[in-house]
Amino acid sequence: MEVDDLLPLSGLQHLVFCERQFAMIHVEQTWAENDLTISGRQFHERADLPGQSWGASVRVARALTLRSDRLGLSGKADVVEFHREAGSDDGVPWRPFPVEYKRGRPKPGGADEVQLCAQGLCLEEMLGLEVPRGALFYGKTRRRKAVEFTDDLRARVVAAARRCRELFDGRVTPRVARHKGCDRCSLLDLCLPTVTGVPGGPAPDRLDSARFARLPEDFA
Ligand code: SF4
Repeated sequence: MEVDDLLPLSGLQHLVFCERQFAMIHVEQTWAENDLTISGRQFHERADLPGQSWGASVRVARALTLRSDRLGLSGKADVVEFHREAGSDDGVPWRPFPVEYKRGRPKPGGADEVQLCAQGLCLEEMLGLEVPRGALFYGKTRRRKAVEFTDDLRARVVAAARRCRELFDGRVTPRVARHKGCDRCSLLDLCLPTVTGVPGGPAPDRLDSARFARLPEDFA
């Protein structure tokens, strides 16, 4: 797959948050800033300086380019730590451990976890070894949240990547009923969910467990 054919890895979190938001940003190329996106971007710019540092038990690579042909995604990892593993079962001396920086605090919905796990799957494909976990660092709490890349989370990533591809290739922007997340969405004034959304429809058209169970064979 050519690099130009890959979709941005960051689109996964948009899709999990709201399919319409994903389509407006990545299909229609619509963007607008609000205070949350501006402060989030500034937070990332401080974390995204490329470079490496080396320690006895942890090596750190910043702004590492990632890609997965299997998922059809490419992007950057804020930080990938490589943890020394003496005597690991598969003989890997330095285990990758992606760390994604988020400005706010942990949120329900799992968008951050899906994006982080996708980074882990990219690393697995690029390096040919298992990446079982990573962490989310939240600026508001100044704490790390450890994330295990379980089978369910991996399946969620695969399903989300497939749905991104469906919407992108089909040039589809789904109609979505207004939901709780709309108030913090920078596209609110462009989307007008109250006017354009599904009348009386389900709240957000989010990925659900039933859809995860319908994975296509080519992603299995
Ligand atoms: S305003 Fe709401 S429905 Fe519209 S893109 Fe944003 S989150 Fe989705």
